[in-house]
Amino acid sequence: MAALQGLSVAAAATHAPRSAFGAVVTSSHCTVGAPALSASHSMRAGAGLRGRPMRSPVAGRRAMQVMAVRDGAKLDRPLRVAVIGGGPAGACTAETLAKGGVETYLIERKMDNCKASISMPCGGAIPICMVDEFSLPPEIIDRRVTKMKMISPSNREVDVGKTLNDKEWIGMCRREVLDDYLRNRAQDLGANVINGLFMRMDQAPGDGPFTLHYNKYDGVSRVGKPSTLEVDAVIGADGANSRVAKEIGAGDYDFAIAFQERIRIPEDKMEYYKDLAEMYVGDDVSPDFYGWVFPKYDHVAVGTGTVVNKTAIKQYQQATRDRSRVKTEGGTIIRVEAHPIPEHPRPRRVKGRVALVGDAAGYVTKCSGEGIYFAAKSGRMAAEAIVQASARGQRMVGEADLRVYLDKWDKQYWATYKVLDILQKVFYRSNPAREAFVEMCESDYVQKMTFDSYLYKTVVPGTPLNDVKLLVQTVGSLLRGNALRSGEGTSVSFGNRTASENAAAV
Ligand SMILES: Cc1cc2nc3c(=O)[nH]c(=O)nc-3n(C[C@H](O)[C@H](O)[C@H](O)COP(=O)(O)OP(=O)(O)OC[C@H]3O[C@@H](n4cnc5c(N)ncnc54)[C@H](O)[C@@H]3O)c2cc1C
Repeated sequence: MAALQGLSVAAAATHAPRSAFGAVVTSSHCTVGAPALSASHSMRAGAGLRGRPMRSPVAGRRAMQVMAVRDGAKLDRPLRVAVIGGGPAGACTAETLAKGGVETYLIERKMDNCKASISMPCGGAIPICMVDEFSLPPEIIDRRVTKMKMISPSNREVDVGKTLNDKEWIGMCRREVLDDYLRNRAQDLGANVINGLFMRMDQAPGDGPFTLHYNKYDGVSRVGKPSTLEVDAVIGADGANSRVAKEIGAGDYDFAIAFQERIRIPEDKMEYYKDLAEMYVGDDVSPDFYGWVFPKYDHVAVGTGTVVNKTAIKQYQQATRDRSRVKTEGGTIIRVEAHPIPEHPRPRRVKGRVALVGDAAGYVTKCSGEGIYFAAKSGRMAAEAIVQASARGQRMVGEADLRVYLDKWDKQYWATYKVLDILQKVFYRSNPAREAFVEMCESDYVQKMTFDSYLYKTVVPGTPLNDVKLLVQTVGSLLRGNALRSGEGTSVSFGNRTASENAAAV
């Protein structure tokens, strides 16, 4: 199969009409444009993305001409796209590409990360709209949360969820289960799934094909075999520490560090959390985020996060444990995990025929720290743009086609990100502001607006009268809590500074 694909690629390069091509380049490897999935120790075709030089031709192999295909040109073999990373973003990208007639490769470094012991650290909360939109089967959802407690710095508890109807809930899943399901589905639909660690990529000059370098694992040995893969376009879905982002010089983003312990608690205590999640706010649990207790399949996940004072994360975690102690004591920690969470999109999310999606692009919302849905959705949207522009894999795509995804994304979600950013700045800035925030959550109107926006991923338009009431109520809550007085609390920054450094900088 690979050989046949190779022949067709080589034929495309040699026989396609001249007008369809841009630059003509010489490759150092006889299989360039040949086996779509080839293993090589020697191939470094073309000047790299970061200006790496070409190597001389491999001895004994006939050099062959590889021609770069112009954007929009008709192909006589399917368009080849590699997706790096098999989390929700990558799996959903790969699924949509494969369904859309694109020759799809999904490279995931930890195929076995679907084992509970090494899965992605995550709270696992997903909105109900994701279940329908991504056709998730019920067994993916461990728990249906219908109640939420917001707990203020002074331990005032407000029950949230009163406005939910009997078909509305927040899904709690384990990432090892969700990711496994999504990856398998992509594979069943035709994506070639590769157990490998992506290392770097080179692009042949003049918009030529990409040569991806990765270490391929056989599932037994811990040492990967250096291998290469040639593709026309690349989607970086490789999470917060994205190598693809580095390859295209996408620029950095500020990030929070999130810490989480999975704790198996006694059955009677688990009963309390069976359909309940808790959110703790206060300077003690985080200067700029919240602490949480989320129910999982047979345990709870207790965690917190911060941008402004990362070095104190363990201290915040201890405070979250202390605040929830009565309800979780007697438990056994079964896992401790930490991971960066992006704070905003990267300066660049598309370059040439490369696009970033999910955490690699920086799509986690402020305030709630939600990223699973946005990862899956951005992957799907990027893939849809490729499928459409390539006429189901028959034409070459270019930067303008990938930008269609960006434009659509920004139009659809800019307001959501902005509103949550403002909420975080206003309400997570000091303990008085947090008290006011929790007080506000008592309002049915606030609960309905918040849940509708979260569960259905739309910024819900309010009614003018209720909006005015809400504004008055918000200002009232903030004044009562003295949160509008200056000098009271921590200002939220987007750099890696401590709270006092931020205060000094203001
Ligand atoms: C502690 C914590 C709690 C969270 N809780 C929630 C929550 O409750 N709800 C929510 O919506 N979001 C939550 N998030 C955010 C959420 O986890 C992310 O936004 C989401 O995982 C992003 O998905 P992704 O597919 O973009 O990236 P990831 O899930 O990070 O997936 C990236 C994949 O790429 C693979 N990879 C990376 N580098 C390479 C490479 N070089 N080669 C091959 N493969 C590679 C990784 O193994 C991984 O499988 C939480 C995050 C943290 C840290």
